[in-house]
Amino acid sequence: MPLNILITGAGVSGPVLAHLLRVSNPSHNITIIERSPSLRLAGQQIDIKSHGVPIIAKLGLRDAIVSKRVNETGAEMVDAKGRSLGRFGIDEAEGGEKMGVVGKRGLGFTSEIEIMRGDLVRVVVEGSLGVQRRVEEDAERGKKDYETQRAKKREGNGKGRETSVGTLTYEFNKTLTSLSQHSDSVTGKPAGVTVTFSTNEQKTYDLVIGADGQSSQTRRLAFSSQISNSCFHSLGIHTAYYSIPSLPSDLSTLARIHISTSQRAVMTRNGDRDSTQIYLFTMASGDALRVSYKQDIVAQKAVWREIFTGVGWQAERFLDGMDKCADFYACELGQVKLPSLYNGRVVLLGDAGYCPSPFTGLGTTVSLAGAWVLAGELARHGDDVDGALEKYDGVMKPAIREWQELQFGDLGTFFPKGRWGVWVLENGVWVMDRLMVRQIVGWVWGSGVWVVEKLGVGKLVRFMVPKKEKDGGWKLPEYPELGLGALA
Ligand SMILES: Cc1cc2nc3c(=O)[nH]c(=O)nc-3n(C[C@H](O)[C@H](O)[C@H](O)COP(=O)(O)OP(=O)(O)OC[C@H]3O[C@@H](n4cnc5c(N)ncnc54)[C@H](O)[C@@H]3O)c2cc1C
Repeated sequence: MPLNILITGAGVSGPVLAHLLRVSNPSHNITIIERSPSLRLAGQQIDIKSHGVPIIAKLGLRDAIVSKRVNETGAEMVDAKGRSLGRFGIDEAEGGEKMGVVGKRGLGFTSEIEIMRGDLVRVVVEGSLGVQRRVEEDAERGKKDYETQRAKKREGNGKGRETSVGTLTYEFNKTLTSLSQHSDSVTGKPAGVTVTFSTNEQKTYDLVIGADGQSSQTRRLAFSSQISNSCFHSLGIHTAYYSIPSLPSDLSTLARIHISTSQRAVMTRNGDRDSTQIYLFTMASGDALRVSYKQDIVAQKAVWREIFTGVGWQAERFLDGMDKCADFYACELGQVKLPSLYNGRVVLLGDAGYCPSPFTGLGTTVSLAGAWVLAGELARHGDDVDGALEKYDGVMKPAIREWQELQFGDLGTFFPKGRWGVWVLENGVWVMDRLMVRQIVGWVWGSGVWVVEKLGVGKLVRFMVPKKEKDGGWKLPEYPELGLGALA
């Protein structure tokens, strides 16, 4: 049965889900609404790894994504004068910075595929529209064949079937203002959702999918403000992302991190591009920052400037660049943990339902896996939409638990208040780099980790040495019903 489906949010997970739904059932009518007046392309480098890699291959988007990959090979720590203290996150065993091909990088600081968020959003949206065009063309061809066959049938031979093609539309500058669920008058089971848009139109859908990010409004409307607020577990870290024009001295395939006093850190990522990404992180001034998120961008920038003045390294240049940039984005980092991913006929996808936080490096990978499972279960369950949502919830729960594990435990270690803490971190990185701990731990992984844990510097080492993918962890299910063949 074709479904009328509404997806809120044209970020990463929404368009990928639309793509998979369109492939699995050409008759669904799919509408994606986006709050911004056009695609929201802001954001810095994001990672695709692990389960995300076979999914982008199945979507036929691997080459397009790889062609936009950022050339980053690891990270180095710099002091307040910008001098290098040590490198980390480079998987030497796999070839480290000589790496030029996908599939070789480890799960370290730099992932298998690093891409600018805006590039990825463009690719996945274009991918969903491309598959829609193909389905329409196939149907047009099928219709012609059908007409030919019907003509033949009138002559006594031939048989055919006309396929109806559903729509896939993106609508911008649109949000939900309310939604009400209704149930079947006979069975009492969920039957659909009537929504009111910011344009005052009302429409009824069989299924509403909230893919509208970490602060999802769909979640608030479907699960109540109280549940929606309490499901956000802050890591106590705030971040601002933006880009500034590169200087020749920025050109590098290494991310650079400077840890400063008063719980502040600055990171730059350049990847040999003509703009340099700036990341500001802080565990201080949380109250002022939370207030600023409700204000306009100019007011937000003023708060960040005040906090980061005197941070060292190229603080003035970075803060002047912030004042001029057009892609500033700031938020509180945290994880979304809900007891259930659906309520009636509203279901959550990606950051809206299970944001693991950028500190896991898994936000995008998880949202791709979520879209795969949701589309797969809907295809498998056919008319039984409620059964599909229940199964999606069940399949995703153990995966979410695994993905939300924080590798570094208490992140406060990386945000020292005073000079002594900064000195320990800087010298720890320097010593480990000189002692070649990266290589040693790579050679004798098990005993090396034991020794450094006993020495009490485990967190630092975990930061410097790429984490190996766990064996026996959650496996991405196969869904032959999607019609995309087996996963690689
Ligand atoms: C502007 C921005 C910048 C980001 N930058 C980074 C980054 O630098 N590094 C990183 O690791 N992660 C970043 N993220 C998060 C990252 O994109 C996600 O973790 C991951 O890709 C999963 O994507 P998602 O589709 O679930 O959510 P998102 O990528 O957050 O997409 C959500 C989409 O929903 C739209 N939206 C929000 N509210 C509504 C509404 N009420 N109605 C309709 N549409 C709505 C948003 O504009 C956005 O297009 C950023 C997200 C955003 C929105």
